[in-house]
Parts: sequence; structure tokens; C-alpha cells
Amino acid sequence: MMSVNNGGMRTGQDTAPNGTARASWERTNTMSNPSTPTKHLKSPKPQNAITIAVSSRVLFNMDKEQQIYEQKGMEEYLKYQIEHETEPFGPGPAFPFVKALEAVNTRLRELYPESEELFDVVLMTNNHAHVGLRLINTINHHRLFIERFCMTGGNSPIGYLKAYHTNLYLSADPMKVREALEEGIAAATMFNPPEKRTEVSETQLRVAFDGDAVLFSDESERIYKAHGLDKFFEHEKAHENTLLDHGPLKGFLESLGKLQKKFYAKGQRMDCPIRTYLVTARSAASSGTRALKTLRSWGLDTDEALFLAGAPKGPMLEKIRPHIFFDDQMFHVEGAAELGTVAAHVPYGVAQKRPQKKLAVENAKDSSAAAK
Ligand SMILES: [Mg+2]
Repeated sequence: MMSVNNGGMRTGQDTAPNGTARASWERTNTMSNPSTPTKHLKSPKPQNAITIAVSSRVLFNMDKEQQIYEQKGMEEYLKYQIEHETEPFGPGPAFPFVKALEAVNTRLRELYPESEELFDVVLMTNNHAHVGLRLINTINHHRLFIERFCMTGGNSPIGYLKAYHTNLYLSADPMKVREALEEGIAAATMFNPPEKRTEVSETQLRVAFDGDAVLFSDESERIYKAHGLDKFFEHEKAHENTLLDHGPLKGFLESLGKLQKKFYAKGQRMDCPIRTYLVTARSAASSGTRALKTLRSWGLDTDEALFLAGAPKGPMLEKIRPHIFFDDQMFHVEGAAELGTVAAHVPYGVAQKRPQKKLAVENAKDSSAAAK
């Protein structure tokens, strides 16, 4: 665990391997130094904050480096990283989401200058310390406010996630995501961003959730998997007064709701910088009631609820333009991504029991990866 601040970059100067690198480091420094807006801000204590842990590979684009590691091995990988230490990584799939979290924080700090109820982004990586310098340079270059930086050195991040009261963990490694979910931590796997990514708001954070096996347990998903959509609709209609159990992302929706109420309390309901969406295959007429009654019983709400009755989710998400969409089925994650939405996979519940070709490929790729 190390703390990162703007001063952290200076370490880069001492270890710059040659004069050329130093010269370009100085350029980077000049670029990111003047009046960095985050300079005087303090990180909230983890127990007060909404902690979002992101891996370096979802926050930044490290594809090229990952390829070098896979093709040429660790030594070449580290050599390349050190040689390119002053070159910031480009944005990864979670980047616009993290930027939106920071926009919400700015609004919260204006309204509640003393409050620590803010998003706190922790960068989780099992990279070598040499790569850490490049990550710090990148954080400063993009003017991200990330003070907590966890270099796990190849160990499982689960212990750190717990210690930081993590409210959401995003990683490119499905094994780590599963491990986190098993420990009751909300988590999702992210993939390379879609080629033509839908433009997202810079001032309003938008988060879209699937219902079954994401906000809710997978108890109804089981009916759907075993008997199909029509039987599922019937079953849900018959059980509309039986509340659903909670699913892995319920707590994160709850955290968002808690922050939304802080804006409502200041008369900013219409202008709230957080907006949430339920995007479910349930149909309003038959199976929607049970979902809405369950949410209400939890004291939760989404700003919008879309009941698609089995229609594809991609076109609707294209209109919503969320920073992130969570679903337990790869089919919907892929459908959303094809139409430009950044979608994250929640490997939870009965849907995972079917063999999923794409996921297996991702698995094999990630289990050998150095840069998480
Ligand atoms: Mg589902």
C-alpha cells in the first residue's frame, strides 16, 4: 500500500534511465503540474466513503504491454514499462466511469464541504513497483484524484478490498471478480471498451443495472433458465407478493441512493448528478411488479425502470448512455457492447453454469497475465 500524490512523480526523475527519458518526463511534469485542481483535497476515511476499487487494466489501456508480457515474458515487459515510464497510458473501459465519480465528488464537496461521504477510488494492481511509477505519471497526466494505490505484488486483492470497505470492485480478471463476489463484495469484470463507444455525460453519473442475479438474487433466473421466458413471467406473476432476496450489486445501488438523497436534501432532485436505471428482461405487465415491490421494500428506487419483456437491451442502453451497465449474462453484456455501451459482467448465479465460450477465452488469457 502506498499513498500517491502529485509529489509522487518526482521519484520518476531519479530513476529515469537516461537523459532522453528525463527530458520527456519534464514535459509530462509541466503538463500536469499547473494548478492541478485536486491538489488540496483530502481523501475520505474508508469507512465514510463509497470505495470503488479498480484494477489498472480497466482504468487504463494496457493492451500493448499485456501483449509484450504474453509474447516476450516478464523481463521484456518490465524493460518496456520502464523505457516508457513517462508515456501515460490511454483511458481504459472504467475511465469515463471514474471521471464521472469525480464529477459527483466535486458537486458533493460544494454542497457539503466538511463531509467525507464521497466516492473514493482505489487503484488495485499486482504490478511491479517499476510499473507503479508509470501508473502515477498516468494518474497525474489525466488529472485523476486517486490517492490510494494498492500494489498487491501478485497476492489476492480480497484482503485489501475488505480492509477498505470496498463498495464496488472492477477488474479485467474474472477469477478475482468471482473471488470478491464469493466474499460478498460487489464486483464485475470489464472488457476492452467497444470500438465505437457511445458518448457519455461528463456531469451526470449514469449507472444501469440488470435485475435478476444483479440487484436481486438468481431465484427467478433459475425458473427462466429451466422453463423459458413465458413460464418465468407466469411464475413471477403468481409470486408477485413474495419479495426477492438481494443480489450482489444491491449494496452499490444503496450507496448511490444514499448520495442522491444528499442532493435531494439541498433541493437538487431534478439536477441530481447521479441517475440510476433498472434495465430488465422482465415485462411490466406480468413480472415487473415483483421487482418493483422488492426494491420498495428495501427503501430503494431506480430513477428509471425499463421492462423490456425479453427484447434486446443494447438499443435501450444506447439511448440511456450509462457510464457502466451491469448484467450477469454475457449475452446482454455483449449485446450492449456491440452498440457502444460499456458493460460489465457480474459472474453470479445460475447463468454462469452454462458453458460460455467467450468467458473461457478471457479466463485463459487472464490467468497468465502479469498486469492486472
Ligand atoms: Mg439477469
